[in-house]
Amino acid sequence: MTRENAATLFIDGRWQPSSEHRQFDVVDPATDTPFGSASDGGRADAHAAIDAAARAFDSWAGETAYVRSAALLRAHRLMTERADDLAALMTREQGKPLRAARNEVNYGADFLIWFAEEAKRVYGSMIPSPRADHRLSVLRQPVGVVAAITPWNYPISMITRKVAPAVAAGCTIVLKPAEQTPLCAVAMFKIFEEAGLPAGVVNLVTSNHPEDVGDVLLESRTVRKLTFTGSTSVGRTLGAQAAKTMKRVSMELGGHAPFLVFEDADVEHAAKGAALVKFLNTGQACICPNRIFVQAGVYDKFVDVFSARVKAMKVGNGATPGTSIGPLIDTEAMDKMSRQVDDAVTKGARVLAGGHRVDVDGVGGQNFYAPTVLVDVTEDMEIYREETFGPIAAIIAFDDEAEAIAKANDTDYGLASYVYTDDLRRAVRVTEKLRFGIVGVNDINPTAAAAPFGGIKDSGLGREGGAQALDEYLDVKLVGMSL
Ligand code: ADP
Repeated sequence: MTRENAATLFIDGRWQPSSEHRQFDVVDPATDTPFGSASDGGRADAHAAIDAAARAFDSWAGETAYVRSAALLRAHRLMTERADDLAALMTREQGKPLRAARNEVNYGADFLIWFAEEAKRVYGSMIPSPRADHRLSVLRQPVGVVAAITPWNYPISMITRKVAPAVAAGCTIVLKPAEQTPLCAVAMFKIFEEAGLPAGVVNLVTSNHPEDVGDVLLESRTVRKLTFTGSTSVGRTLGAQAAKTMKRVSMELGGHAPFLVFEDADVEHAAKGAALVKFLNTGQACICPNRIFVQAGVYDKFVDVFSARVKAMKVGNGATPGTSIGPLIDTEAMDKMSRQVDDAVTKGARVLAGGHRVDVDGVGGQNFYAPTVLVDVTEDMEIYREETFGPIAAIIAFDDEAEAIAKANDTDYGLASYVYTDDLRRAVRVTEKLRFGIVGVNDINPTAAAAPFGGIKDSGLGREGGAQALDEYLDVKLVGMSL
């Protein structure tokens, strides 16, 4: 794509430049250099996309579930065929190591096939009426035009996680991807186009002015639902805007996952798991542990094994084989790492690994931060409350189960949590007391397209994935009939 003719808006089945002919650079976070450009869509483009989605709605909602399912299956096949190219683009645009990008493409494709199948199971129900000459039935119908706003950290799977259930339910959609990763979105919408989705069913508005596009989507009465993944602060703003037109809302926001390791756990397995999930996507995932609580009797052993694994991680360009830690997304993220580490060290934490920026030979980028281990972390430190979203592990000792649960729950967030123990009774007790939407028991990957992903408290509303996710795109209609 050349910088002169970016036409990355997909509206009413046509690729087009922004109506104001603006565009913006897309930057490789590993090298800090632009490698492409995207159309900078604005208010008029957002209006055009909503209009196209509204025009397409009646006929798409009126198609059979089998037709919608077949389109999603075609998209799944194309995505699978292009997996390597999609992964390479993701590594360039977002920075994650190629192998992780490949995993994300597979995960993203799972949503297409799972909701293709689920589209055929949008059942209604009959309810026995208290009157003999009366019938009650319940229909589930598509909510209408959906606005979707997606983040940069999982630039492909967050798109399919929203588009697949929306399209399966019979909705039409306008999607605004993050300004850091518009090209992954373009690649996915080319797949939707080739899969034969009718004009207007899926619409893409890339933009470097998220508030302008967001305002139009949120103010519109035609848009009946917002699905958002991003920060809690933006989620709050969008939720307040959505309230004015009483839209359905689902939000997947920030997290501050606790990772509990009890004395009766397999400590090596726990340390290995903690290192993998903490540094997943360079720590830029909402399910990354933010506080690792380790029981006193196994604390030293855990810290030794964990630190050794972290020190062995290779920082570099995600495209270089063997890289386990790619760049952070931008300098703002780098500044946050320095700030959280400085704050913690000033208040008494010790750095056992990392704690500094890294120069990667031959790359030239400024966004590499060494995987970092902080011990002696206390409640007064910023990292204890604020989401890190980067490669810093904060380790804290605890004495007993009640203390661990109280500390784990002492956060405004409520997305993922992890418990390591080999005591079955303890696993059940702790799982039931953790106030989070997701609990991994000796498990760092409690996610799948078929499973309901989402949080409570400041981590969001609603669920994505699984049968629950389809309900987010369906209205319930009660029909009473007198005979
Ligand atoms: P992150 O911290 O992951 O960058 P953000 O919440 O800032 O999370 O961004 C997530 C998504 O929300 C991106 O697509 C971004 O463009 C979008 N966004 C941010 N601010 C607004 C806004 N005021 N209106 C609409 N979208 C927004």
